[in-house]
Amino acid sequence: MNFEVIFLGTSAAVPSSSRGHASVAIRYFDETLLFDCGEGTQRQLIRSKNSYMRIKRIFITHYHGDHFLGLPGLFQTMSLGERTEALELYGPRGIEDVLDTLIRICRSDITFDIIPREIRPGTVYECNIFRVSAVKVDHSALTYGLVFEEVKGRTFLREKAIALGLQPGPIYGRLKAGETVEVDGRVITPDMVLGEQKECKKVVYTSDTRPCQRIAEVSKDAYLIHDSTYDHTLQDQAVEATHSTCVEAAEIARKAGARQLYLTHISPRYMDTSLLLDQARPVFRDTVVAKDFLRFRP
Ligand SMILES: [Zn+2]
Ligand SMILES: [Zn+2]
Repeated sequence: MNFEVIFLGTSAAVPSSSRGHASVAIRYFDETLLFDCGEGTQRQLIRSKNSYMRIKRIFITHYHGDHFLGLPGLFQTMSLGERTEALELYGPRGIEDVLDTLIRICRSDITFDIIPREIRPGTVYECNIFRVSAVKVDHSALTYGLVFEEVKGRTFLREKAIALGLQPGPIYGRLKAGETVEVDGRVITPDMVLGEQKECKKVVYTSDTRPCQRIAEVSKDAYLIHDSTYDHTLQDQAVEATHSTCVEAAEIARKAGARQLYLTHISPRYMDTSLLLDQARPVFRDTVVAKDFLRFRP
């Protein structure tokens, strides 16, 4: 699988028996990125069969506990696994202080470097095959929505690569980026494993927010993962708590021309989420209520 999005936690504020705290994993070639890391994310990673050792970059959207308290436990487990590879930790202003505190909580030695990086609006991280950028959203704390997008549009033909005897790994990403590689004395050019040019796909994760024009602006043709803490009869509460209702999320998806809408950050009061879907779908048909371990391939 070269591109996959996995919901690791889809609850709002407090976990429930079926939903963990906020976290979304994006697997792209040989990298796994985490968008938020609520409490319990490490166990969700294990249950979803994603290696936490493959994570090189974690992006925290804001410092509300349900979005970042999974970090110290994850750091400790990585250390027990004798990780030595550095990890980059992205977060809004104050990330250095947050990281210092987390490291102090861990007490025992962390076996790898953790490099704090401040999120600011615009491009946050970019490599030769994808880019992560941030837009400020409208929540009670300083919060950034995150945009993951491909920067190379040619499809990678995995079957062709396997037929050529190429094992999955970093080499796939290099070929995808347009690099010619040499394997056991054989020269492999990108044309041998790349198909036709397609549009670059995009995933937008709003984190916690009121409906936000900046999100609509970046979500055209995107797979939009939107705050949907409340159903629409509780709009007043959504306004007060600076979250969105399912209908407001659907309105943003429609306004933006999104490809698909995933409702997440679901209040534990909704054991049955059909109400959210019934309200949202008339506004934006391609709506799904996310649940823990739901995955999709953009
Ligand atoms: Zn939250
Ligand atoms: Zn929040």
